Amino acid sequence: MDQFSLETLAIRAGYERTHEQENSEALFPTSSYVYESAQQAADRFSGEVPGNVYSRFTNPTVRTFENKLALLEGGEACVATASGMAAILACFMGTLSAGDHLVSSASIFGTTKVLFNKYLKKFGIDVTFVPQTDYQAWSNAIQPNTKALFLETPSNPLTEVADIMRLSKIAKAQGALLVVDNCFCTPILQQPLKLGADIVIHSATKFLDGQGRCLGGAIVGSQALVGEEVRGVIRTAGPTMSPFNAWVFIKGLETLALRMEAHSQRAQTLAEWLSEHPAVDRVFYPGLTSHPQYELAQRQQSAPGALLSFRVKGGREQAWSVIDATNMLSITANLGDVKTSITHPASTTHSRVDAVDREKAGITENLVRISVGLESIADIKRDLEKGLNHLVSNN
Ligand SMILES: *Cc1c(COP(=O)(O)O)cnc(C)c1O
Repeated sequence: MDQFSLETLAIRAGYERTHEQENSEALFPTSSYVYESAQQAADRFSGEVPGNVYSRFTNPTVRTFENKLALLEGGEACVATASGMAAILACFMGTLSAGDHLVSSASIFGTTKVLFNKYLKKFGIDVTFVPQTDYQAWSNAIQPNTKALFLETPSNPLTEVADIMRLSKIAKAQGALLVVDNCFCTPILQQPLKLGADIVIHSATKFLDGQGRCLGGAIVGSQALVGEEVRGVIRTAGPTMSPFNAWVFIKGLETLALRMEAHSQRAQTLAEWLSEHPAVDRVFYPGLTSHPQYELAQRQQSAPGALLSFRVKGGREQAWSVIDATNMLSITANLGDVKTSITHPASTTHSRVDAVDREKAGITENLVRISVGLESIADIKRDLEKGLNHLVSNN
């Protein structure tokens, strides 16, 4: 299937029809599998002969999702997990040990930060946080025991774009792994493994599902690291993806390319429109020429993606008034849905961050984040326009 494009692979690859000759992929809700003989059971348990044993290890529906995502990201192996957080945990349980050091971008998903600071530290893994795009800081943070570098790009909510190729050189010079959470771009917009990353993480909950139905995650990388080490953690510790969720994600992947293009087009239009609005102070979106990493984003991503944020003129009161004036948009911190969502990061996703640190990181009180969905752009604009126009007339 190597000659096929990503759109085709997402739809056609990674599945073997059963004897029923179904056109749509079958769902296998089974916990265990039966053997033709005691000998076959023994061979499967010993691992000498490949085949299904138990769905904590392998399941045909989950495997189809894993095969597809591995092909899309260009990795040898993919392991599916119960959530994005389970993927990040399993990745580092499989690749790090007590006494190791991790360097992470400071601009990562809040729960990932808690996982690193509270739980990895508890098991003797030390973490240093650095500014997402300060490459000198990444280099300076490297210690003799640094075993991995971690980031998301673009970041949430300020859409800072980090140079994956450049970070992969810093990682390689140290013999450390570069791990990229590719949740916001998906392989349709960005393939970190081709840019030198060693491992890609996904929260399938977001764009891979695309319609806000199921929790899931995945780790993609080499057979040795992901296929062996990380899979070992999952099959032993148990945060496996459910076959039903895998089936939903398989259906999600079929429309992923179309959706990511449509999300990006709408977000670009909305970002340009917001930039012109007199109530808006600044817009953060990698597709705007005013974005500090515009050139890099053009090179590294095939489109700018669905996420944007903007500062209104004023503070929290003004930001909240724009959010509260919407009727159609979903006021929720979730993202990656066909339904456009709007949130105030300072009081939701980043509310647990110390207020001074939060301001310093640019998550100001007047910042609003939008995950642009697939409704008509005219309707999305109209829903935002009420609150924004009201701010102008109040001044
Ligand atoms: C949501 C999210 C996660 C966590 O995924 P869950 O499926 O909610 O566990 C990790 N990374 C990023 C960038 C996310 O947006």
